Amino acid sequence: MKSGWVDRDAEAIVAEGAKSGIDRDLALRIYTTRLFGRDPKLVLHGGGNTSLKEVMRDRLGADVEVLRVKATGADMAMIDLAGLPAVRLSPLRKLRALGEIGDDELVGIERASLIDPAAANPSVEIMLHAFLPHKFVDHTHATAVLSVIDQPDGDKKCAEVFGGRLAFVPYVMPGFGLAKKAIEVFERAKPSDGLILSKHGIVTYGESAREAYERMIEMVSRAEEFIARRRKTAAAPPRRGTADVAQVAPIVRGACSEKDKTIEGAWRRLVLEFRATDAVLNFINAKDLARLSQAGVVTPDHTIRTKNWPLVLPPPDPAKLADFARVAHDMAGQFAARYHRYFEQHNARVGHIKHELDPLPRVVLVPGLGLFGLGRTKRDAEIAADIAEAWVEGVSDAEAIGRFESISEADMFDCEYWPLEQAKLGTRKEPPLAGQIAAVTGAGGAIGAATAKAFAAAGAEVALLDVNFAAAREQAKTIGPSALPVVCDVTSAASVRAAFDAVASAFGGVDIVVSNAGAAWQGRIGEVDEDVMRKSFELNFYGHQRVAQAAVKIMLAQGTGGCLLFNVSKQAVNPGPNFGPYGIPKAAELALMRQYALDYGADGIRANAVNADRIRSGLLTADMVASRSKARGLSEKDYMSGNLLGREVTADDVAQAFLHQALALKTTADVTTVDGGNIAAAMR
Ligand SMILES: [Zn+2]
Repeated sequence: MKSGWVDRDAEAIVAEGAKSGIDRDLALRIYTTRLFGRDPKLVLHGGGNTSLKEVMRDRLGADVEVLRVKATGADMAMIDLAGLPAVRLSPLRKLRALGEIGDDELVGIERASLIDPAAANPSVEIMLHAFLPHKFVDHTHATAVLSVIDQPDGDKKCAEVFGGRLAFVPYVMPGFGLAKKAIEVFERAKPSDGLILSKHGIVTYGESAREAYERMIEMVSRAEEFIARRRKTAAAPPRRGTADVAQVAPIVRGACSEKDKTIEGAWRRLVLEFRATDAVLNFINAKDLARLSQAGVVTPDHTIRTKNWPLVLPPPDPAKLADFARVAHDMAGQFAARYHRYFEQHNARVGHIKHELDPLPRVVLVPGLGLFGLGRTKRDAEIAADIAEAWVEGVSDAEAIGRFESISEADMFDCEYWPLEQAKLGTRKEPPLAGQIAAVTGAGGAIGAATAKAFAAAGAEVALLDVNFAAAREQAKTIGPSALPVVCDVTSAASVRAAFDAVASAFGGVDIVVSNAGAAWQGRIGEVDEDVMRKSFELNFYGHQRVAQAAVKIMLAQGTGGCLLFNVSKQAVNPGPNFGPYGIPKAAELALMRQYALDYGADGIRANAVNADRIRSGLLTADMVASRSKARGLSEKDYMSGNLLGREVTADDVAQAFLHQALALKTTADVTTVDGGNIAAAMR
């Protein structure tokens, strides 16, 4: 591992900070914290923290000694001043005299000692930083270091790899107890560079930001070199004879869902992220996977993201996917039962004070294929997958130099259910569609884009399908990094299949489909070319049938129900003159919706439609609005709001109607009219 320190970059941050009164030490504290945060081999998703001790002026003008320490859960790669709250040091140091202190009391004292009372909560490892005397203290969960110290003889390996430069602190759960143990060891051994926290991580310190940082890099490099000399690299075995990710993911996702006991018809679902690097394939195809997979986490705080163990499934044979699904469901059930027993046993030990988290796996290993990270959002799934990859590397390398050994199950429970760890995940209320995946066709257009946005705002992960990929990508960008643009020509069965494979591979499946893509053709029905009718049917009827068929296949593989939503338009119920080529396939689409509701109701798959009219979109462009209103001698405003309510109907109104249908778990075969009121187009 090379030092990322660049004088020019460091000086640029110092100069920039000087403009807003940030002193040199603090600017360099920010700089090296960002350097740590940028390297996933050092720091992953909120693990690791840094601090600085300095004198600053408080609000009353007095000079006080403070500890600036990373805020809990802050991203080190992007850290700024707000991510390094300042806490008065002297009250923290006095705590050392206490035998024990409760979490709430400790957090209370920390908050009362903040210079800025509105600042973020400091890292859970604040006391470790406070007790060590050094100006700069850095702490990481570097993967290579974990491979060296997650061993039955971790203390010996520590001495062998780091010499006397790092002292070995036996395992204590993170928090106040660990800080006390660490300072005891420090004062006895007075190591020059830092500490090893057994089965947890590494601390380095120094009198300058650069010294502490470069000591970390040097120590991690030593661990890397020690491993590299012993590692046997084998080529990843080929993936022949294994089913595709797109086929397997919905089965895994369905197996790792649970019924919501409070709402009939609702499910608690997770989103998936797939990984299949050579390191992952070597690990999951290894002979001793059964032992290694159950050996536990590489550092305690990973348990809140991955739980203690992954679910391990058998290799999926593409010719026997039904068998695979049965086994996957059984094994996921066993996983949940084991998690429940683990919770009961350790909750009894601590006096029945904890509430059980959901028992669903967060990492699933599929031999021959790869690993899945699972989470309530795509982002959480990615984090679980990143941590699982670091775990694979940490365990593999530990085995290359000895035998991997984690903390005990009781210690894992204490970390998983430590309120200060759970606080890192935040306490925000979940949006109504959390864990669900929605695919919208025609998502590059006005109604499709508005619908994708409404579903994303309600917490769903969204895939934007459109024949015009650039338009879908443009709209996806406005939603966020997880929104997935996919090219999809609904007039081609192969294109629809490929698009739904892409959605299933990216998110693990699909729960809601808004079949919206369409275009209008006109012609007097007795004279219109048959070719025009066929073209319109290809898009406005068969397009919906292909999309619904592809979606239902995935929904049945998941076994957790689903929701098909169709944009049928007013023409389905109230034909316009010379509009038969458009209205007739739309009427057939309405019948299609009812047929899906009928044939798949028993599978929990609902089908509904929105009958919308006169929306500014690709079917009713600004030019058309101008010419039609002019032809009728109306202003554009009056033309657009020519309905019973006298209100213009927008793409957002249609989007909200689709969202309402997605949320109405007891509603199927329904048509919701969104047209401001038109008796001729009313359903009954
Ligand atoms: Zn730590």
